[in-house]
Amino acid sequence: MEKIAKLQKMIEESSRIVFFGGAGVSTESNIPDFRSADGLYQEKYHYPPEQVVSHTFFMRKTELFYDFYKNKMMFLEAKPNKAHLKLAELEAKGKLSAIITQNIDGLHQAAGSKKVYELHGSIHRNYCQKCGKFYNAAYVKNADGIPYCECGGLIKPDVVLYEEGLDNEVIQGAINAIRSADMLVIGGTSLVVYPAAGFIDYFRGNRLVVLNKSATARDVDADLCIQEPIGEVLGRIQI
Ligand code: ZN
Repeated sequence: MEKIAKLQKMIEESSRIVFFGGAGVSTESNIPDFRSADGLYQEKYHYPPEQVVSHTFFMRKTELFYDFYKNKMMFLEAKPNKAHLKLAELEAKGKLSAIITQNIDGLHQAAGSKKVYELHGSIHRNYCQKCGKFYNAAYVKNADGIPYCECGGLIKPDVVLYEEGLDNEVIQGAINAIRSADMLVIGGTSLVVYPAAGFIDYFRGNRLVVLNKSATARDVDADLCIQEPIGEVLGRIQI
């Protein structure tokens, strides 16, 4: 059977689909994976992206952190693509129970998805470290250099930085969703980002699908693998 037709059939037979997505879901919305930040950037600052986006860096080299964060991780003009839209449609039709994402761009919510577990937080939530006041993404992006609260406190994005732990409630919600899923679709991730990769082990169903442009470590265990752009694949699904 053609792979898209097989995916279509699996979706038709499922009613508690969980989608687990990574950076590849948003690349079709022109959001690059910050880990792939080019050599030019490293040449300029002498630090790899993973180090810049760490808690230590945020505390000690705040200006440099925000320079990278605003330019390489905040894409406020990005729009949901066919993958985001199809997943929102599946949820609205009662087929999909949750989305678990490693992305921080908020594009699933922009597409209309309601149940979204954001493992790494969101650029759309930012809080003053002193008084707790909320600030939106535009305020942070448009700030001249480091964004400060009107009280003078430093604003921190609600994004999980390296060295920081994931939110326990988000982890538990994601695990529960995967445990009760009858179909698990993994998309746009090579599953190398710890500890997210371990979540997949909670799946007990028999419809495991991997949609990723390049091969992933899990391909061998999957019931179906499609190595094509995820938006194009999901865009062809009829609901
Ligand atoms: Zn404040």
